[in-house]
Amino acid sequence: MNDTITFWINGARHAARSARTGDVTNPATGQVVRKVALGDASDVDAAVRAASAAFTDWSTTPPLRRARVMAKFKELIELNRDRLAKLITEEHGKTLPDAQGEVQRGLEVVEFASGVPHLQKGEHAEDVGRGIDCHSRLQAIGVCAGITPFNFPVMVPCWMFPVAIACGNTFVLKPSEKDPSASMLLAELLKEAGLPDGVFNVVHGDKVAVDALIDHPAVRAVSFVGSTPIAKYVYETAARGGKRVQALGGAKNHAVVMPDADLDFAADAIAGAGYGSAGERCMAISAVVAVGGIGDELVQKIAKIGAGYKVAPGDVPGADMGPLVSKVHRDKVKGYVDSGESEGAALVLDGRRLSVEGHEQGYFLGPTLFDHVSPEMSIYRDEIFGPVLSVVRVNTLDEAIALVNRNEFGNGTAIFTGSGGAARKFQNEIEVGMVGVNVPIPVPMAFFSFGGWKQSLFGDLHVHGMEGVYFYTRTKVITERWPSSAVPTPVAGRSTVMPTHG
Ligand code: NAD
Repeated sequence: MNDTITFWINGARHAARSARTGDVTNPATGQVVRKVALGDASDVDAAVRAASAAFTDWSTTPPLRRARVMAKFKELIELNRDRLAKLITEEHGKTLPDAQGEVQRGLEVVEFASGVPHLQKGEHAEDVGRGIDCHSRLQAIGVCAGITPFNFPVMVPCWMFPVAIACGNTFVLKPSEKDPSASMLLAELLKEAGLPDGVFNVVHGDKVAVDALIDHPAVRAVSFVGSTPIAKYVYETAARGGKRVQALGGAKNHAVVMPDADLDFAADAIAGAGYGSAGERCMAISAVVAVGGIGDELVQKIAKIGAGYKVAPGDVPGADMGPLVSKVHRDKVKGYVDSGESEGAALVLDGRRLSVEGHEQGYFLGPTLFDHVSPEMSIYRDEIFGPVLSVVRVNTLDEAIALVNRNEFGNGTAIFTGSGGAARKFQNEIEVGMVGVNVPIPVPMAFFSFGGWKQSLFGDLHVHGMEGVYFYTRTKVITERWPSSAVPTPVAGRSTVMPTHG
């Protein structure tokens, strides 16, 4: 160990003014692998100033040229996929193939952003009145900020900055201080792709840096992804300061399993979605709603699959699941397992007993399964963000839908069924932003938007897809007339009347 990760400002590594640092730990070993500088208001100001200075030139660069930088950046991510994945696994703990999948999903947003000349071209209508034409423009807004969580150190930043930058904005990223290295490699690749200095900047840090960023008068828009309390705080604080904000929060995703579902398929999909990435995905399945009399069979199948998963450091070939991100978080998740037991749920699979040989200091917890969970229990109510599945039993689809809709979160959900009618009713009535039908983790592709409802999203627009383009642009609508002999100027005297061009 001994390097300290600094910042990326104006196209180069940049020493911190703040003297504070944080530890970056490999969760599979419990060892500190490097330090990260924790920025203060002056560090954030330096990054925002660089981004402000770069804005005029970048926002007037033709969209086609901006798109070409994105296309090159996509190529470079492909070439560096393994380096990125290795950094993710080292600092986050997820398995290497899972990390590669994350890089792929981030890359797809870059691919989407490479279509910016088409995405940003606005609309045009001729003859909205006699001799009058109208068109709309989607113009860049200025310096945009992104604040991201630990669980997807490449994919989540990529939900934001490729779209923002392609639309002509400049950007300051404040990644999670738990796994900061991948964002520095992304910054280097952007430079190699031809991005002008100052357009993309990275400042590391904690609440101090976040507060400086969301209070900075030159920051025009804030994208946040993280836990619900911080999302709400960032949304309220930045919106009060007049910025546009999208703040994506936590989740409690339900999988509803109907009696007519293929139970082997459903159990396999649910175990993968609940235990994959150690349950640290915002779209992880956390609550399983068994409808009708299938509870016993479903629980038995999920338990068998979970018990067979290989839990090991993420770089061990064949590992299904790595450690949790930190000791504090692993102990918190363990605490939920203790509560579930004392609250009376039936513990079918107990991950607390797991020990990974040679990695006793790692933050491991095995797949855990509770049956007969009721909605009052803390393991049902709270977002656990670990490899813990809770099975709730109900009698009908109506009861299942009512249960999901009563939950304060509304990020993702899935139904497993062989019935088109049940699936249709579910899609129509469920109050959740992203819905899967026999698809356990319905993360939309980059050309659709990603975002939840209720306490899972504060703000009006999702990330990426056209909603991302609208978030990072301001619409201007131009109505124009060019009087000529063919289209005479209207007779004076009618100018006080509300114009009705038609
Ligand atoms: P977190 O809320 O602790 O941290 C997110 C970001 O906020 C980090 O950059 C962190 O430095 C910063 N931060 C932390 N405390 C802060 C404070 N008091 N004031 C200001 N900033 C602060 O989240 P996390 O633990 O890194 O990530 C896990 C959470 O993110 C889970 O709740 C998960 O559901 C959520 N998440 C949601 C989505 C989604 O799309 N809705 C996607 C990924 C993760």
